[in-house]
Amino acid sequence: MAPFHQHDCDNCFYLGSDEEGSEEKVKTDYYFCHRQGEHPCLATLIARYGEYGDYSSGIDFIMSSIGLNKSLKLAVEQNVLPDDVKLYIKKKQDDWFDYCKHDLSYAEGIAKRWEGRERFIIK
Ligand SMILES: [Zn+2]
Repeated sequence: MAPFHQHDCDNCFYLGSDEEGSEEKVKTDYYFCHRQGEHPCLATLIARYGEYGDYSSGIDFIMSSIGLNKSLKLAVEQNVLPDDVKLYIKKKQDDWFDYCKHDLSYAEGIAKRWEGRERFIIK
């Protein structure tokens, strides 16, 4: 498998590509970006939809962004997340579920956007 789009970060680990990274079926490349030994808050997942700035990134959006959640799934399946990063992400995940319990209109909006897609969760 090869990425659809050009990507210019040497630290990125390529996780795969498909056309399921957003509501619109666009060609999406998935990456995990992390320097060995750096703090987990600096690690990031990326879903690239096109050239230049056309991408999503950030651990904060792994539960709300369809593309970033797919990056997370691939990173866990391919076992590329260091333990501390995995724990950090799990915490973000738990915080997100907690947030959704309190901000119901946000939760409803996200559910609408996801349209029954299955969300990947670190167990
Ligand atoms: Zn990178």
